[in-house]
Amino acid sequence: MLLHHAAWPEVDAYLKHCKGIIIPIGSTEQHGPNGLVGTDAICPEVIAAEAGADSGFLVGPTFNVGIAQHHLGFAGSMTLRPSTMIAVLNDWIESLTRHGIDRIYFLNGHGGNITTINAAFAEFYANFSLDGAACPVKLKQRNWWELAGISDLSRELFPVGEGMHATASEISVTYYAHPSAIKSVEMTPKIAPVGGFTDAADYRRTFPDGRIGSDPSQATPEKGQRLVETAKRALIAEVSDFFGTRPLVQAAE
Ligand SMILES: [Zn+2]
Repeated sequence: MLLHHAAWPEVDAYLKHCKGIIIPIGSTEQHGPNGLVGTDAICPEVIAAEAGADSGFLVGPTFNVGIAQHHLGFAGSMTLRPSTMIAVLNDWIESLTRHGIDRIYFLNGHGGNITTINAAFAEFYANFSLDGAACPVKLKQRNWWELAGISDLSRELFPVGEGMHATASEISVTYYAHPSAIKSVEMTPKIAPVGGFTDAADYRRTFPDGRIGSDPSQATPEKGQRLVETAKRALIAEVSDFFGTRPLVQAAE
């Protein structure tokens, strides 16, 4: 069930059975010449939406701008400062826990968010620890590409040129989610360079078209669909475990 498509009495009824919510969290940043700027938000959003539809678990709005200062050398990229993101995440968490939600599972689509999400969790838990109170809430983050079966499937689908940024897998997932946004672009070089970076100017110099190590011209919606189906099944199993609740709807096979 999508929070944005529910009326409050439906949310109220849900919370009598389950006190958990999934929050997709991503970024708004360049993803190379053929990748959507929304890629890191769209991937967890589509996986969570399909898992929510199959399982009945509540899926909240997508937290869709994250830590992307290093991408600001490319048109369209947006970022939060880490301190801003920690504050905003805590307001999201406190809004949800006010209603009795005690398990929040963040399905993350962007590696650059990981440390800041962990810092936001520490900020939330510190309120209880400093008061000498026991926190009734558990927070968890998980990268969608680390869900069971995904790395094996990515290796099978893209034995060469999966890469680290603007990966063939993530671009495939967005093409499955939004086929009207598919772009056909020749990659030069075929496989992008790899390496480290600091700020936006350094990133742009090192990775001129935005990709790192990938050849996303291999991306197709069919491959994206296989990735979403595998991720969705793994997500439902993990979330059931974390929430301590079986799916509210039995998925039709
Ligand atoms: Zn990405």
